[in-house]
Amino acid sequence: MTIAKPQAPIDRTRMRELHKREERRFVDAHPKSQALSQRAARSLLQGVPMNWMIKWAGAFPIFVESASGAHFTCIDGHDYVDLCMGDTGAMGGHSPQATVAAVTDQLQRGITLMLPSEDAVWVGEELQRRFGLRYWQFALTATDANRFSIRIAREITQRPKILVFNYCYHGSVDETFVTLAADGLKPRSGNIGPPVHPSVTTRVVEFNDVGALEAQLAHGDVACVLTEPVLTNVGIVHPQPGFHDALRQLTRKHGTLLIIDETHTISAGPGGYTREHSLEPDMFTLGKAIGGGIPGAVYGFTEDVGQRIVARTRLEDCDTGGIGGTLAGNALSIAAMRATLENVLTENAYARMIPAAIRFAEGVESAISASGLPWHVTRLGCRAEYLFRSEPPRNGSEAANSSDPELDRFMHLYALNRGVLLTPFHNMALMCPQTTSDDVDSHTRAFAEAVSELTG
Ligand code: PMP
Repeated sequence: MTIAKPQAPIDRTRMRELHKREERRFVDAHPKSQALSQRAARSLLQGVPMNWMIKWAGAFPIFVESASGAHFTCIDGHDYVDLCMGDTGAMGGHSPQATVAAVTDQLQRGITLMLPSEDAVWVGEELQRRFGLRYWQFALTATDANRFSIRIAREITQRPKILVFNYCYHGSVDETFVTLAADGLKPRSGNIGPPVHPSVTTRVVEFNDVGALEAQLAHGDVACVLTEPVLTNVGIVHPQPGFHDALRQLTRKHGTLLIIDETHTISAGPGGYTREHSLEPDMFTLGKAIGGGIPGAVYGFTEDVGQRIVARTRLEDCDTGGIGGTLAGNALSIAAMRATLENVLTENAYARMIPAAIRFAEGVESAISASGLPWHVTRLGCRAEYLFRSEPPRNGSEAANSSDPELDRFMHLYALNRGVLLTPFHNMALMCPQTTSDDVDSHTRAFAEAVSELTG
């Protein structure tokens, strides 16, 4: 589907000149990162340990010396306010004390055994309490939690397909890399080596489109709908009133399981969006922040789903089911999860994080209003995001069509040169328990200055 891209009404020539100035400023300020990135290019593909790290604004990534709470210091000695927070992995703050203490202790007592520890039981009980689902299992990444949940859904429903919303993101899960096209659907742009055409595995509709959802579920071949309760990976797209009720009612009507992925929307509160809005998923996934940054993820399911899984699992074959992993459920990850749930991502922490995000959104909003630009800012708990369109998008296409990578890069670099890190993906900012008003105001100042230079 090709939709005309509305360009933000800014002078591109001016922006490119400003960008060049900012590029020079960045390079001048980071001689050590520059030298290290040149050395890295000789052993690491494209000079980075993970392919997405080439996406940062600036000629090379900043190399980090240390990070604590809401800040980090680079090897050139500059201090930054971190609003990326490891794209949610560090939402509890960098190296939260309680997690570090628990992990340090566990490191001395065995890291991975393929046997359970008492902490696992504590975590299972806490997850039940927070999110309301009966049974829980562990994985190392949110990607895996989603992949395992999809497999389970296919197995117990004996249906071949899943349904996702256009422009969703759930990790590197093959079935989800798909977008709507005029004549059906196509592989998501950039997807490397898809195993099969996604039309074999997946149905796609726009978020908030109840009619299309019903029509696709009516085929009767959809094992599960996998969705974030609020889309967060194409900018923030909130559900319209009644959408979640319709989603739940239609999935039940058509015998399709509902998997809610709270990996990012845990920003909404300690029980995620699910608890805040009394959702009733059949399955639930959560990764990243749950271990305070130590790799770990969980997936949960209802009593009914649990019974159906057990009914189809043979002891002899339980290690070839395509679910699990040698290091999944390791003692270190689980110790980190316990400490993080018990002492870091608490009600009290959210009581600080959410007001910080409100302050962020108000600051950005006032700069946007002053500039007259047709942009807006939106928020989900302690996560906020500005988008280059005047109205909140209703679905992934609307959000994707307002994306403007050149402008993103300019805004990110401008903020970075003034000591503020945003995610390299669209314009997301995340508050952690230690993010202060001063931290937020640093961003507001940089944002207002950028906007005024762009429009002045
Ligand atoms: N689910 C959602 C909603 C995500 O945003 C992401 C990553 N951004 C994932 C799952 C996958 O997380 P990971 O890369 O840690 O596996």
